[in-house]
Amino acid sequence: MTARIIDGKALAERVRGEIAARAAGLAARGEQPCLAVLLIGSDPASAVYVRNKVAGCEKAGIRSLRFDYPADAAPEVVMAKLAELNADPAVHGILVQLPLPLQFDEAAVLEAISVEKDVDGFHAENVGRLSQNQEAFIPCTPHGVMKMLESEHVPLSGAEAVVIGRSNIVGKPMAMLLTNAGATVTVCHSKTRDLAFHTRRADVLVAAVGKPRFVTGDLIKPGATVIDVGINRLPDGKLCGDVDFDSAAAVAGAITPVPGGVGPMTITMLLENTVISAERAARRKGL
Ligand code: NDP
Repeated sequence: MTARIIDGKALAERVRGEIAARAAGLAARGEQPCLAVLLIGSDPASAVYVRNKVAGCEKAGIRSLRFDYPADAAPEVVMAKLAELNADPAVHGILVQLPLPLQFDEAAVLEAISVEKDVDGFHAENVGRLSQNQEAFIPCTPHGVMKMLESEHVPLSGAEAVVIGRSNIVGKPMAMLLTNAGATVTVCHSKTRDLAFHTRRADVLVAAVGKPRFVTGDLIKPGATVIDVGINRLPDGKLCGDVDFDSAAAVAGAITPVPGGVGPMTITMLLENTVISAERAARRKGL
């Protein structure tokens, strides 16, 4: 193995320490950061994510409110809760765990969250602001990836960056952030004709495909920085990424592991966005 391992867990712990200090400072000024999390239905993976988010809040000194709804919940009930939370000055962040049951219009739910409290960064206005390189809440997973690249001093200006995946929550905002950082970005997806042609040119390769060990070493440019966003559960219960770690690490210059790479950074950025929102609220109140 030649690649340097990018330790997301260690970075997340360091950043969470800074977030906890900011949260404590806010609480001392009477503005305790507070995140409201809504979980609709009983998807087991969603339940785990919500549990981890609430636990992350607790550790960082961020108050969390959790609202659980059955899978057949009426959309109007959830919309009414969102309106209530939007109006509550003690709440700084609102998150609706995705995916939603079929009776929900996902875009309508995301846009019902106040732009100022949209700590997941999925509201169309925040997406637009990000695309214009204006101040915005940035979706947590790609934001966490940018923090990792920054902490590793990976040069982005002028670099060839390739993102595999074009989802609204990972691939597209990732491409936007890399573009804003000065990289030349190619976005690949299931219709891409010759994936290897693109990936082999990448100085920075981000895999957000949702397919276990999809990116093998032969797809990677020697010395590239490889970021594995994937979280896949194997039949034996173990987690693995979208990158075939062993063959990739033999070629790459630096690589994130799964688990212990991007995953811990995602919740960290959610906590940071909540604290940022609380800091803005404190400023508005002159605290
Ligand atoms: P989606 O399923 O929404 O998107 C997957 C993307 O991969 C799509 O754009 C799809 O293309 C593309 N794709 C699928 N097959 C291929 C292929 N053969 N060649 C090239 N591209 C392909 O997934 P998400 O973006 O939500 O998540 C991606 C991964 O990241 C998952 O493993 C998920 O679990 C993980 N994840 C991890 C997080 C973390 O905290 N670390 C947070 C969020 C997600 P098309 O659009 O054409 O269908």
